[in-house]
Amino acid sequence: MGQVIDCVAIGDVLMKELVAETEALKAKGITPGIATLLVGDDFGSKMYRGQVEKFCEEAGFVYFNENPPADVDEAGVIEIVKKLNADPAVSGILPLRPFPEHISDSAVINSIDVNKDIDCFHPYNSGKMALGEPTFPPATPSAVIEILDRYAAEKGIDNKDFYEGAEIVVVGHSNTVGKPAAFLALNRNATVTVAHVFTSMKGNLGKHTLGADILIVAAGKAGLITADLVKEGAIVIDVGINRVNVLDEAGEPVLNEKGKPKTRTVGDVDFDAVEPKTKAITPVPGGVGSVTNRMLMRNALKACKIANGM
Ligand code: NAD
Repeated sequence: MGQVIDCVAIGDVLMKELVAETEALKAKGITPGIATLLVGDDFGSKMYRGQVEKFCEEAGFVYFNENPPADVDEAGVIEIVKKLNADPAVSGILPLRPFPEHISDSAVINSIDVNKDIDCFHPYNSGKMALGEPTFPPATPSAVIEILDRYAAEKGIDNKDFYEGAEIVVVGHSNTVGKPAAFLALNRNATVTVAHVFTSMKGNLGKHTLGADILIVAAGKAGLITADLVKEGAIVIDVGINRVNVLDEAGEPVLNEKGKPKTRTVGDVDFDAVEPKTKAITPVPGGVGSVTNRMLMRNALKACKIANGM
């Protein structure tokens, strides 16, 4: 049986650390602040915005909400970024994407002050990460590494012994999760393989995942990782978040009181089948997502210290 890693508990410990550090800064007259930039009203981004606001409140950060309408032009969005860049109360800026189609992602991201780029979107910061010296390692992949670091520490395994030469396979090659997760693992001297949708299309996914000591999955495909794709004794980190219908014994969708299909949140890993084969595994819900926001806030604290010459 695999150990189900308690990521909620890790998130709670991290929040206590953040609160303590924020109080110490406030005693010196310094308060960290995060600004989110949401253009229009994308549902997922609105949910994320609300979470950032809640966590800022919990940690004692100041929160700034920039939410221009969807028909604002690109120059208008860049003006907002420039205002946030110049505001000393704003330690970190988080653009919430997707932006409306007429606004270029890179134009907005490139206008963010690199010292306020707390989710490592700017090419300068992603370049530093690729070189092995990240200032702001991106939140989700950092959460993966934080979970692994704490697992190794709990088992009394030296961090170098844990990562160096370990076979780490990342499934997913997005710029926000898969690729940076691979860089962070490579920076720890793991042997890193990145598999993705084209690996699956060639029928080669198992060829790679079966060699993984540590399998990091970020594909956004419920049930992608079945037990036959996982090595006995692997550590599995499931980053995926998917909404699926709840099914009855006949495989038909269960309806709620409004007659709509009931849904539940699952990861990319077939948890019930895979868990018995693993040494350790993260669940969904209650997994990586419980740590991600804390990593973003840790970066904002760092940005605040940089801005104050600390
Ligand atoms: P994305 O859509 O940008 O990228 C998905 C990646 O998965 C691509 O690189 C693609 O090649 C790969 N992929 C798709 N189908 C595949 C298949 N059949 N076989 C192998 N690889 C396949 O998504 P993303 O932004 O990288 O997010 C990935 C997942 O992680 C999503 O479910 C997302 O909701 C979740 N996520 C979770 C957190 C968290 O904090 N837990 C944060 C961000 C994203």
